[in-house]
Amino acid sequence: METKYIFITGGVASSLGKGIISASLGKLLQARGYRITIQKFDPYINIDPGTLNPYEHGECYVTADGMETDLDLGHYERFTGIETTRDNSVTTGRIYLSVIEKERRGDYLGKTIQVVPHITDEIKRRIQLNATKQPLDFVITEIGGTIGDIESQPFLEAIRQLRWELGPQRALNVHLTYVPYLAAADELKTKPTQTSVKQLQGLGIQPEVLILRTEHHLSDELRNKVAHFCNVAPEAVIQSQDLPSIYEVPINMYEHQLDRVILSKMGIKRPTKPDLKSWLDFLDCRKRADEVLHIGLVGKYDLQDAYKSIRESLAHAGTYRGYKVQIHFINSEFITRENVAEQLSGMAGIVICPGFGQRGIEGKILTAEYTRTHDIPTFGICLGFQMMVIEFARNVLGYQDANSSEMDETTPHNVIDMMAEQKNITQKGGTMRLGAYECALSRGSRTVQAYHGQTLIKERHRHRYEFNNSYKDTFEKQGMKCVGINPDTNLIEIMEIPMHRWYIGTQFHPEYSSTVLHPHPLFLDFIAACIKASKDKLYVHQALDLVTPDKDLCVFRRSPIEKKSKRH
Ligand code: GLN
Repeated sequence: METKYIFITGGVASSLGKGIISASLGKLLQARGYRITIQKFDPYINIDPGTLNPYEHGECYVTADGMETDLDLGHYERFTGIETTRDNSVTTGRIYLSVIEKERRGDYLGKTIQVVPHITDEIKRRIQLNATKQPLDFVITEIGGTIGDIESQPFLEAIRQLRWELGPQRALNVHLTYVPYLAAADELKTKPTQTSVKQLQGLGIQPEVLILRTEHHLSDELRNKVAHFCNVAPEAVIQSQDLPSIYEVPINMYEHQLDRVILSKMGIKRPTKPDLKSWLDFLDCRKRADEVLHIGLVGKYDLQDAYKSIRESLAHAGTYRGYKVQIHFINSEFITRENVAEQLSGMAGIVICPGFGQRGIEGKILTAEYTRTHDIPTFGICLGFQMMVIEFARNVLGYQDANSSEMDETTPHNVIDMMAEQKNITQKGGTMRLGAYECALSRGSRTVQAYHGQTLIKERHRHRYEFNNSYKDTFEKQGMKCVGINPDTNLIEIMEIPMHRWYIGTQFHPEYSSTVLHPHPLFLDFIAACIKASKDKLYVHQALDLVTPDKDLCVFRRSPIEKKSKRH
């Protein structure tokens, strides 16, 4: 079968969940046996989101081949288990960069370079690039932003052209909108959807499928009205009502026949039945998991999307262990020696989060000290790992001024230091150590056990600094072991304190590779240790503010100090 292209656009408002819809559709097509990929085209001008503050764009997700991408790629991978690549994440910046490079090379000699056709041609080339590298039945392309944004125009023009060139059986537009409910009138309003579709039509795009995001059930009458006004078949107006979990969306979309309608419109009238058994088993597990496990996330970004993959990885592992993980965000900026016990109280385990820069690091170091000395299961990731190392150097090895050269370039005890290959790099964008690298695990370690005895693993990285190998022996003598080492470069990737019930730090980001059907072994093991610790009643769950789990299973532990304005 020739590759078919599905374009997903969004209207009315942002944050309607285009990423989840794209991932769910991908899941359903994959479950029917199709070879698929999902890609995101973002209209902003940055080359990639790597240089963006998480407050601007949430977490930066890293692919195995080392591209810093939008967090939606995390959803694509978690839902489908398919590894995305640098071809799956494209921005306006990347499009322009390649067109400008071609212009400088002289590829267009004599021509005036214009948005149409040069930029749109480059967008079309990139939309089809994945299918030139591997056999694919469907390529789902999510267009970032909302219809009406000035910067998305070239992308919309490109998909209009592609639909025209490929024809209706090979290209199809899905538009996601929002149907607001006006409480005062007790009515659901379709006008914003009609307006949004009109805008698309004005650009020459007729959506074949409409997905209406709503908080309330939409009657047939209402859907028919939308169909009538928007030139869409009634069965292709699909409601997407709010659900308790994003992982229920694929099943909900299946029940509303999203994939069937799309397949039928693209000429596949009698598709094979989807195999969703393992997905349903996961959901079943989730429903049955009724005990709550409280995990503290110690970091500086007090917004949910900043640590998206960590939160999802904890949730996956919790589900498979039979627990609902309730995440408590604890702002490291406000942790002090006086309040650390109170801030961490009630937590079965602590994750010390990744990050950059000085802000909040002393709180992370205090956290590491507290959890180490109180034997609370602790998982340090990237900067979190580095803070565990610094804490150990200061408080066990006695190097009071130990630090990372990222925070203090002049420290005599630079237990975390800039990687040699990073020293001459001056540019910030895309220049960190990025992507998957091999790591050899020490036999007999807690970590190798977590990985079920596997001694060579591959994990994704995003950092400039590393453990300073000249301190390796001193750390090991005092009980903090280097149990994961890059076999090619000797870089230390994992350290653990074996005497502790679970005290492990990783220089890499295991959260990027935890998926719904393949939860990450380190998260599974960490959660198991947290469950055991809480069962041992070592940590009395105090009555503090353990609110009932909310929809997203994340509460923000408010600091006593008034929230400061957003900063890097
Ligand atoms: N800032 C640290 C470094 O660059 C850690 C990065 C991270 O946590 N992703 O090494």
